[in-house]
Amino acid sequence: MSLQGKVALVTGAASGIGKECALTMARLGATLVIADLNPAASEAVVQEIIQAGGKASSVNMDVTSEDEVNAGIQACVDKWGGIDVLVSNAGIQIVHPIEDFPFADWKKLLAIHLDGAFLTTKAAIKHMYAQGRGGSIIYMGSVHSHEASKLKAPYVTAKHGLLGLARVVAKEGGTRGVRANVVCPGFVRTPLVDKQIPEQAKALNISEADVIKNVMLKDTVDGEFTTTADVANCVAFLAGFETNALTGQSIIVSHGWCME
Ligand code: NAD
Repeated sequence: MSLQGKVALVTGAASGIGKECALTMARLGATLVIADLNPAASEAVVQEIIQAGGKASSVNMDVTSEDEVNAGIQACVDKWGGIDVLVSNAGIQIVHPIEDFPFADWKKLLAIHLDGAFLTTKAAIKHMYAQGRGGSIIYMGSVHSHEASKLKAPYVTAKHGLLGLARVVAKEGGTRGVRANVVCPGFVRTPLVDKQIPEQAKALNISEADVIKNVMLKDTVDGEFTTTADVANCVAFLAGFETNALTGQSIIVSHGWCME
């Protein structure tokens, strides 16, 4: 599969899954825009792509700010002539039992995951329609788009919400060639997960090894973490899939943790 000639913007691309999505799509020929809060880390990803012979730039973007999102998408279109792929990936995790969950944390998490997905979609889809060559919007869901876990009320709520957003975008975009899908990873060893292991151990009063074995990977077919490469390959596949045969779907990449 080639992504030659396509322009892809990935939010949260300075780290973890988003970074791997950017590197993978760049290897397949796409021009990348790295959109993140962390300018130094974004620039490092840009340099890695350029040194490997690819094309990339970065924009500072807090996905909860409508002005920053609009400016970042416009900068992408101005610099590279359009936008063909949006990967709405930026995300955080906060864990508490619901009776202790600070309301401010609930709102912060929903804003990054859901407002971020909405605002980037709204800004990008206008250009995809105007360009007349369609586009692919990919939301970073999770197994938690389909399953629940203790301590993760806003995260599970947000990840379920992305399925609804993707289905609406698939219906609205269908006649104009804009596809929308959700990629749903199981646990992947990124900074987001590394932070959760001690937090969950404390909240559940078990060891960190038990969090990995008996909470995170308990229901996989082989006790293995999903990798950033597994997720990035799936995103690249959706980015390059050219017809509406594959839209409004969620693809679960989780070592069999969730089978639907
Ligand atoms: P990560 O912490 O490695 O990377 C997240 C990136 O998002 C960081 O670069 C951070 O700066 C950026 N970010 C955070 N808030 C932002 C904001 N307001 N605006 C712009 N950028 C922002 O995390 P990750 O594990 O790579 O997670 C990426 C996505 O994958 C998230 O949506 C997460 O929910 C999802 N996910 C992760 C896992 C996993 O196990 N790691 C599993 C399923 C889904």
